[in-house]
Amino acid sequence: MDFEGVKEKTLVLIKPDAIQRSLVGEIITRFERKGLKLVGLKMMTLDEAVLREHYAHISDKPFFPGVSKFMQKSPVVAICLEGLEVVKAVRLITGITKAREAEAGSIRGDFAMSVACNVIHASDSVETAQKEVSRFFKADDLYNYSKTEYENVYMEDELEK
Ligand code: ADP
Repeated sequence: MDFEGVKEKTLVLIKPDAIQRSLVGEIITRFERKGLKLVGLKMMTLDEAVLREHYAHISDKPFFPGVSKFMQKSPVVAICLEGLEVVKAVRLITGITKAREAEAGSIRGDFAMSVACNVIHASDSVETAQKEVSRFFKADDLYNYSKTEYENVYMEDELEK
């Protein structure tokens, strides 16, 4: 089978609250179990400049300084995931921003109560995902390998463009 059509990528950041609460393994496990392919993984600290860029759409909001401080409390784990319509799939698994109202079964719904401390970031569109993946990963940091499990994750006709 040809899995060339399954190359859409998205970015997830595991936020400092999840690092402190030892949820990194649990979160990665959920994405793995879904059938998504891990193509990039690294731990890093974020500075004010990258946060202003990453959160440009909220940088003029009164809550932004608090979000920025929170995101610098500890390192984060950045993950790049690949799959068919992966951006949409990962947003569904993530749940809505206000975690205490997020659907049970989603990561935010199961692990968080706050609007700000909501465990993970996930890219919200294919266009944003492309920018966000390249913000946090150099081309050399992303891995291209075949995943044998794909034969049991997708049907061939789903992958035809
Ligand atoms: P999402 O992360 O669900 O895509 P947004 O892009 O709107 O949500 O916001 C980015 C992040 O800013 C949120 O995940 C959350 O950590 C924080 N945030 C958003 N809205 C608020 C708010 N009203 N008060 C505090 N923090 C917020």
